[in-house]
Amino acid sequence: MPRWPELGALARSVERLLLPGVCLLCQQALAATDDDALICGLCRSRWQPIPPPLCPRCGDPLHLGLACRLCVAWPDGFRTARSAVWLDGSARRAVHSLKYDGWWRAAEAMADAMRPLPPLTGGASLVPIPLGARRRRRRGYNQSERLAAALAARTGGRVEEDLLHRRRETPTQTRLTPEERVANMADAFSASPEARGRRLVLVDDVFTTGATLAQAAAGLLAAGAAEVHAVTFARARQTVG
Ligand SMILES: [Zn+2]
Ligand SMILES: [Zn+2]
Repeated sequence: MPRWPELGALARSVERLLLPGVCLLCQQALAATDDDALICGLCRSRWQPIPPPLCPRCGDPLHLGLACRLCVAWPDGFRTARSAVWLDGSARRAVHSLKYDGWWRAAEAMADAMRPLPPLTGGASLVPIPLGARRRRRRGYNQSERLAAALAARTGGRVEEDLLHRRRETPTQTRLTPEERVANMADAFSASPEARGRRLVLVDDVFTTGATLAQAAAGLLAAGAAEVHAVTFARARQTVG
């Protein structure tokens, strides 16, 4: 039996054995320069940034100079949302690894990609989107919290885990208009009075329609937050129809 001081070293070597020596996404051997990152440099280089021109508010690409419809129903104090990359190919697989396969350390490579997003400058207060209790139990962790923690480590910001709470699970909302989606999410979140007067940055893995972020922002603003921004790793392409 090992003595107690040796248990830490033992745990580390067990972790090394359990970690794949290969990239989570492409299964190629990780180079020494990839460090403990789990996602190799080549896979990361395939992640596609969202090309400008962007809607100054929700960060979705503007088409043919038309006004953006996606963020028309957002509450006033919800100022900006930005995403690092499109939800395509290897970025989609990274999200899947983080969300469904238990690879929470994929959050580190994803946070690297999010780091330059404008709402994160200046030591932001990061608010992860909470999971419903049932999903959280099943998954063992909240992927948004893991992303927020990795971002805090990179930007000097801090994670505010207790500001925002989910009141209920929200039904799926594909097939609804942007306005209907925001209404569908009404009162889904509540926030602590400690949000009062503060500039807060919501963190989530994917921007799909923005409705979840808008409703979380509404919860923070109702509790007195001065302004709310949002960052996500990936963004789903809107189907315009
Ligand atoms: Zn790879
Ligand atoms: Zn917009």
